[in-house]
Amino acid sequence: MKGRKTKRDCDLCGKEGVRIQRTTRIFGKGKDLVVIEQIPMVRRPHCHESYYTADTLHEIDRLRLHRKSLAEKRSIGVIAFA
Ligand SMILES: [Zn+2]
Repeated sequence: MKGRKTKRDCDLCGKEGVRIQRTTRIFGKGKDLVVIEQIPMVRRPHCHESYYTADTLHEIDRLRLHRKSLAEKRSIGVIAFA
């Protein structure tokens, strides 16, 4: 995601105000569970849309695939919704 403009006009309505919001998401479950932080999510407040670009989704797949070598071990609290 290097060299990307973080501010640009909306492809759909042409308005300004497209934002990149850094998000944290959890993928997989059990032993395969991995948390990825700082994922850039595109937000279009006026169009009520938020999504990940194809490049970002591709990078997420790559990170998940290499999670064993890339992931930093941290202790986190996990709660199962009763
Ligand atoms: Zn828009």
